[in-house]
Amino acid sequence: MKQSSSQIPRPLHERIVASLADVLGDGKHALHEPSFMGEELQCLKECISSTYVSSVGPFVDRFEKAIAEYTGSRRAVAVVNGTSALQVALQLAGVKAGDEVVMPALTFVGTANAARYLGATPHFADSSLNNLGLDPDALQEWLKYVVEKTSTGSRNRFTGSRISTLVPMHTFGHPCEIERLVGLANDYQLRVVEDAAESLGSYFGDRHTGTFGCCGILSFNGNKIITTGGGGAILTNDIGLADHAKHLTTTAKVNHRWDYVHDEVGYNFRMPNLNAALGCAQLESMPKLLASKRSLTSLYSKCFTDIAEVTLMKEPHGCTSNYWLQTLILAESVSDQRDPILEATNNFGLSTRPAWRPIHQLPPYINCPCAPLPVAESLALRIINIPSSAKLVCRA
Ligand SMILES: *Cc1c(COP(=O)(O)O)cnc(C)c1O
Repeated sequence: MKQSSSQIPRPLHERIVASLADVLGDGKHALHEPSFMGEELQCLKECISSTYVSSVGPFVDRFEKAIAEYTGSRRAVAVVNGTSALQVALQLAGVKAGDEVVMPALTFVGTANAARYLGATPHFADSSLNNLGLDPDALQEWLKYVVEKTSTGSRNRFTGSRISTLVPMHTFGHPCEIERLVGLANDYQLRVVEDAAESLGSYFGDRHTGTFGCCGILSFNGNKIITTGGGGAILTNDIGLADHAKHLTTTAKVNHRWDYVHDEVGYNFRMPNLNAALGCAQLESMPKLLASKRSLTSLYSKCFTDIAEVTLMKEPHGCTSNYWLQTLILAESVSDQRDPILEATNNFGLSTRPAWRPIHQLPPYINCPCAPLPVAESLALRIINIPSSAKLVCRA
């Protein structure tokens, strides 16, 4: 129904609902639904028929090989979820109890939890407006101020703790400035563990995200670009580290025909064969999924050009994003409109979500060391994720 034009401009939340409805129509739409367009049922049937649904079976090896090949990583180790992948990756990178682990404040809480499980303390750094990931310039300034360099690495001059590791994250699938961050980490003798949970199919230059540090991790949770129901993977080019990751995530059991010898405190983090079977089928659909997400970006792009107060997030220069979650960024002048927009869109049946609460504001992490976080705090009030499922364009 067209309304006659009036002098009073329509409220921002109404214009946003109208733009979304232009692309999506009137139906209800989730923020992100999985797509099953390939051989999912056949693979699951094959897995069940074989009776190998649990901790051993050929789909796990097949999935690991396929992930390694897809990402260009020498090895991939499949595990039960992305958070466990990160916990083990941090442990293998050498994170010890009492260490500080530098990470963005604007990330999913799992990034911080993984460090905490090891007895380490997250140390939060600021984000960049260009790519929503760690800002290398701000981080360089901050490290110059906070770090006391020792013969063995970096120490926080205020807390006295060793700063051992940097965890860059590729937000909503947009690659951060990973090369500069790795350079900075080298200057301060920090290991790099890349949280690429959201960025399967995203490239910095022509290199896949998650392959720049000593290890990287992926997530295959139900809301990610592909899913295994629940799952994750550790990526690494270091064969020794990969073998150790496999050992640690499979209860550290020493190979023997019948004896139970476990030579360190391992974890039962192995991805079950049933989940890997789903993953094998899902991975085949990546080209289609990426193409759909890219078309969705161009559709949204056309609809949001006339709304000056919002910007649709685009892939950073020189990078290829998987466009996992489509993102609107509100101008600072209208950040007070975020909640009315969330309210109006959700009332209309369109699932939209704000960014995470920055982790330094969450009760378990309120006392952690923090760099100044002006950009992360501002972005957290201005980000709105909008419906992003691949099926919104590709009706398979
Ligand atoms: C999803 C996600 C994780 C954790 O993955 P799970 O599989 O849900 O445990 C970690 N970090 C980021 C940034 C994520 O988005």
